[in-house]
This record gives sequence, C-alpha cells and structure tokens, in this order.
Amino acid sequence: MNIRVLPLPEESRKQKYTDETQLGFGKIFTDRMFIAEWKSGQGWVDARIEPYAPFSLDPACLVLHYAQEIFEGLKAYKWKDGTIALFRPEMNARRFNLSADRICMPEVPEELFLSGIEELVRLERDWIPSSAGTSLYIRPTMIAVEPVLGVKPSDHFYFYVILSPVGAYYAGGFNPVKIMVEDKYVRAVPGGTGEAKTGGNYASSLKAGLEAKKKGFDQVLWLDGVERRYIEEVGAMNMFFAYGNRIVTAPLDGSILNGITRNSVLSLASDLGFTVDERKTDIATILADIRSGSITEAFGSGTAAVITPVGALCFKDENCQIGNGGVGNLTQKLYDTLTGIQTGSIPDRFGWVKKL
Ligand SMILES: *Cc1c(COP(=O)(O)O)cnc(C)c1O
Repeated sequence: MNIRVLPLPEESRKQKYTDETQLGFGKIFTDRMFIAEWKSGQGWVDARIEPYAPFSLDPACLVLHYAQEIFEGLKAYKWKDGTIALFRPEMNARRFNLSADRICMPEVPEELFLSGIEELVRLERDWIPSSAGTSLYIRPTMIAVEPVLGVKPSDHFYFYVILSPVGAYYAGGFNPVKIMVEDKYVRAVPGGTGEAKTGGNYASSLKAGLEAKKKGFDQVLWLDGVERRYIEEVGAMNMFFAYGNRIVTAPLDGSILNGITRNSVLSLASDLGFTVDERKTDIATILADIRSGSITEAFGSGTAAVITPVGALCFKDENCQIGNGGVGNLTQKLYDTLTGIQTGSIPDRFGWVKKL
C-alpha cells in the first residue's frame, strides 16, 4: 500500500531534547506519526504519515467504552556508525495480529505494519538518541473508533504508530528490583486475554501494582489464575530463574505474553551453553529453592528494560533474597549480549537485527 507523506508545517516541529540523559521513558514524542484506517467493506485505506497531533474522537466510540484496543512495543537503535536498526520487528507484526484476532480486530498485513514503522522511523531519524542505553521506542496501536454503544466489534479502526525517544532504563546503574508475589489478584486465566497485548490487561493490573508499591515493591509477580500456585510473569516482563547452568521460565500456555525478549533470551542462553527449561513451577518450590541457594539468579525480560535483575521476592510477607541480592553473572551476560547485538557492538549471528 502506498503511504502518503503529509507536509510537516513549521508550527508542528517540536523543540528537540537537548540532554539524552534526561529523556526518561515515553514522555516525549516525535514530530510525526503513521496512521492507516480500516473500514468495513473497504479494508485498509489511507495510509499516511502526518504531523503528530491529538485525535478528535467521538465520545461514543467503542475503544472508550469496551476497550477494543491492542498495542506493541519495539525499539530502533542508532549505532555508532550511524546505522539505524530495529530488533526483530517481524515478531511484533506477528504478535500484533495474534492480539488483533483475539480482540476481534482486522489483521494488519505484515507488509503494512513493517513499512509504516520503517518509513516513519526513517523520516524521524534525527530524533533517535545514540548514547549508551538510549533508543527510540516505537508504539504501534490499534483502536476501535466506530461511535456506537452496542457491544460488538467496531466497523472502523485506526492503526497508528507513535515514536518516543527514551533514556537509559538504568541511568543509576543496573539496579535489582524487589518483587511481590501477588496472592490476592490475578492477571489472566486460561481462555482469557493474557496472551494478547491489550490495554484491558493493564487496566486490571493497576490495583495490584499500586498496593505492591505502597508496601515498597517495584512490581508484582503473577501466579496462575486458577490454582494460584504456578509462577507466570511480572507486569510487562517475562520471568526467569537460574539454577546455576539451567534457566527456568513459565511455558507459553495461553495466559502469559509471548515476549520477544523472552524468546531471544532462550536462544541466547542455549547458545551460551545454558540449559533452558520452560516449565510450570510452583511458587513454593521457587521459594524453597531460593532459600536453599539452588536458585542463583532471577531476572525479568521485556523490550523496555531488556533485562531486569530481581534481587528479592516477597510472598505472604516472607521476604526472600535471591543470591546475594545483587546482579548475577548470567543476568549481566545476557543484558550485555542482547544490548550489544541491538546496538551493533556484538555481531548478530541470529539474524535478529533489521537495518534500515
Ligand atoms: C510486552 C509484554 C512483555 C514483554 O514482551 P517483549 O516482547 O519482550 O517486550 C511481557 N509481558 C507482558 C504482559 C507484556 O505486555
């Protein structure tokens, strides 16, 4: 599909950031956005790149009432030699369409998803920061815009992409987080929407996150929604436990998000000689193995922070420090290798990097 590029008038040009260390996460956006519309009976129409601006939405439109919405998250990196690279964007395209199917939204052709992102990133390349740990965060989103109060799939959608220059997640160094194991609320159940990247999952997780923050924890670790025994994932990260040379993570059984970083960690860890074990693990086993010292490290994986070291887990008021509470060797190695591949300082033997 042809993508029209609309002019960017002088008044739509923003003041660029001056200090890359002060970017934070998702707080500023670039000058332009990509948008395409899907209309029942017509399919995808009017793909365009236009000045970044607020939408004018009918107050009745479906996304505002029944949350028919999905999104993705990926990053573009600016290498030392000026190369601009995306990390496994075709995986985001595929996952977006799995989410779309679950939420009854139209499939976005992979070609449209990727070319929309690539064209936009090329045009906005001056916004990509380049100092260590920084990147351009890319947020593809689809929303239902038909103005009607009946509960049904919309007959009109916007698929749009916005870009946000983001700072180093670990500006103050690689800091282990403290995680509370959630025993009151659940995130997902088999047959639910846990595997889809949809806003509703996040809305329903806010309360647990807030209560954990009040108790001094950074995030919650979700248990399975039926037996409340098996470890699932954390906020927007998949969770890993290392037993020396073996790493364990929850299997993709429909209620956790199929993380692209998770998938990359599994490939990388095997490649580095670790055994990877996708298995249902009881929280009681995890706590016993932390106490006995057989769990040596724990970390989360996700696009925003890439790898997040976990220093302690707390379950029903019992606090369990993992290892020495610091950053383990494997955690550090995986972080360095993944970010090295993403930023071009380590050769990509996996075919993950897509240069623009
Ligand atoms: C996005 C997300 C992740 C991480 O996925 P990546 O593809 O690695 O960024 C994990 N869990 C949830 C619930 C998510 O929404």
